[in-house]
Amino acid sequence: MNYQQARQRMLENQIEGRGINDPLVLAAMGAVEREKFVTASYADLAYADSALPIACGQTISQPYIVAHMIEALVLKGGERVLEIGTGSGYAAAVLAKTARQVITIECIAELADSARKLLTELEYDNIVVITGDGTKGNEENAPFDAIVVTAGGPQVPKSLNRQLKIGGRMVIPVGPNETFQELVLITRKSEEEYSQEKLCEVRFVPLVGAEGWG
Ligand code: SAH
Repeated sequence: MNYQQARQRMLENQIEGRGINDPLVLAAMGAVEREKFVTASYADLAYADSALPIACGQTISQPYIVAHMIEALVLKGGERVLEIGTGSGYAAAVLAKTARQVITIECIAELADSARKLLTELEYDNIVVITGDGTKGNEENAPFDAIVVTAGGPQVPKSLNRQLKIGGRMVIPVGPNETFQELVLITRKSEEEYSQEKLCEVRFVPLVGAEGWG
């Protein structure tokens, strides 16, 4: 299987073909080797137009959704970004190529450990993987220019709202049950004001934890 060709086709058909046009996002999606982030038995499907299972009953998101979420953050390359839900580490790798620093939090230790190891091997030196409950964010490194949540919760965690810079953007799937969500873009307008815009319907694995599904 020629992964480079498959990645190029994915970029043209699934990403550019569906209207993603931010050059930083396109370059990152064209560079990150998704085949390294999927389970070995799914390597041939690495560039398929779908989410795929990873260890511990979790998933690596569909390439288009990763690109769509990151494009909505309008990154220019100099930002510090917080990701909740490291999973395979794939979205963190794409973010690392569109921002200055990525702090990513994963609550399942086995996944955090394997993503940390893989990202180190692949020499992503601007990503810090933290094991813990991401619904509380990461006070130590806050505030963030952008926050992306890759699991679906019942509401926007208050801690994440507080840790977003004024002018910063957050993308998060929010829904009434654990399998159906709307992808929401939040912009912090001032100390107290936030605007919300719905982007599309999505299906993410549940956001668990103190400010998630519990
Ligand atoms: N961004 C990932 C997608 C992973 S799926 C990728 O590119 O592969 C979502 C992940 O969120 C799962 O690994 C799940 O364990 C994790 N998760 C769910 N609730 C969480 C929480 N409160 N804190 C941190 N991670 C969480």
